[in-house]
Amino acid sequence: MDDGSSQQQPPKRVVVCGGGIIGVCTAYYLAKKGAIVTLIERSSIAGAASGKAGAFLALHMCDDGPLSSLARASFNLHRSLAEELNGSLSYGYCPLTTLKVTVDESKPASESHILPPWVDGGVKSEEIIGTTDTTAQIHPQLFTRALLAKAVEEYGVEVVMEKVESVAVEGDGVVVMVDGYGAIRGDAVVLALGPWTSKLTEVSSKFKVIGKKVHSIVLEPKDGDMITPHGIFATYYPGQGMGPIDPDFFPRPTSDVYICGPSVEVEVPDEPDLVFPDEESIQVLKRVAGIVSSYLKEENVKVQSEQAGLMPCTDDELPIMGEIPGMKHCYVASGHGYWGILFGPASGVAMAELVLDGHASIVDLGPFSPTRFVGTKI
Ligand SMILES: Cc1cc2nc3c(=O)[nH]c(=O)nc-3n(C[C@H](O)[C@H](O)[C@H](O)COP(=O)(O)OP(=O)(O)OC[C@H]3O[C@@H](n4cnc5c(N)ncnc54)[C@H](O)[C@@H]3O)c2cc1C
Repeated sequence: MDDGSSQQQPPKRVVVCGGGIIGVCTAYYLAKKGAIVTLIERSSIAGAASGKAGAFLALHMCDDGPLSSLARASFNLHRSLAEELNGSLSYGYCPLTTLKVTVDESKPASESHILPPWVDGGVKSEEIIGTTDTTAQIHPQLFTRALLAKAVEEYGVEVVMEKVESVAVEGDGVVVMVDGYGAIRGDAVVLALGPWTSKLTEVSSKFKVIGKKVHSIVLEPKDGDMITPHGIFATYYPGQGMGPIDPDFFPRPTSDVYICGPSVEVEVPDEPDLVFPDEESIQVLKRVAGIVSSYLKEENVKVQSEQAGLMPCTDDELPIMGEIPGMKHCYVASGHGYWGILFGPASGVAMAELVLDGHASIVDLGPFSPTRFVGTKI
């Protein structure tokens, strides 16, 4: 006798807001698990932080804390996605040897056996902090767009390029109001709007995602063949009482070298396209690049990009992932801070499991729940 319990449930309709790496990974894994997914992006896919990041990946650098299992699961997912999507060719997936170095141009450089030849500035100390088994990098915009292309082609994800105006609970589902498009109804919605998440009035009093601005440049050296796959975390002491500057260098398989600087909290502009680089910060990066490596001096490079991105951060430096208190079927996945590119795939799997199965098995989402902010002053 059929009591109805064996009948298949229709697939869930899920609306994902935000086409950065977190929204795209969430849409991909939701659709792969059988959901009908609409992704809404107001500007361009991976046009904000998810296109401007260094996209350095590390297995072990978040160990000893609540982020460890997220980092480890995601590093391994990046590795398997790179095999599936031919990542070394399609989005520059590349294992790296990673070093931490200190640079002081006023002192003579010491001999070193572990430094790559292109790091020929006045390096005072160096230490290997990651191997090709534990560190890697990708081109973040190419990765995000490649994953979305697969989500569209193989799993039928629909993409709407418009601005999300509001979200609300309606009956046993949700309604998302989209500028110039109207209402999109679904069984659930996931907000992955990066630093713009708190701009939605419905959630602005429940948790806070802030924006930290980071500048970066991409240089194409004339002697690109000399640049080896080494990630370099540099600390440069300019002297004369000035504090240290900490640029990171990530060579890309395209022979470009990506360099980014420190972060500073800023007011989040209304539109993602209004995040502009400051000339002074770009000049500092260019100058320090030439000090760390003669191959990166201004006369030896073509400047490919000068840019700035906003990292979505929280006060306790943990992402916010879970159902939003007081808003059934409305979920948030934001605030991934310094490691959002690394955390993308495992965050996507976790959100897909949470929305479709009611709990995440890939990682414990407990420490990231938005309920931790209930009762705190936002
Ligand atoms: C310079 C820099 C270097 C970094 N380096 C690394 C690194 O080496 N390794 C690493 O793991 N991480 C790194 N990060 C961090 C990482 O880039 C971020 O944590 C990650 O990209 C955040 O992704 P997201 O999808 O949450 O946000 P975003 O990339 O900001 O995406 C949010 C999207 O939502 C869209 N949106 C906003 N409002 C609306 C709306 N109302 N309607 C529709 N769409 C909307 C935006 O247009 C945007 O596309 C770096 C970040 C920066 C800035």
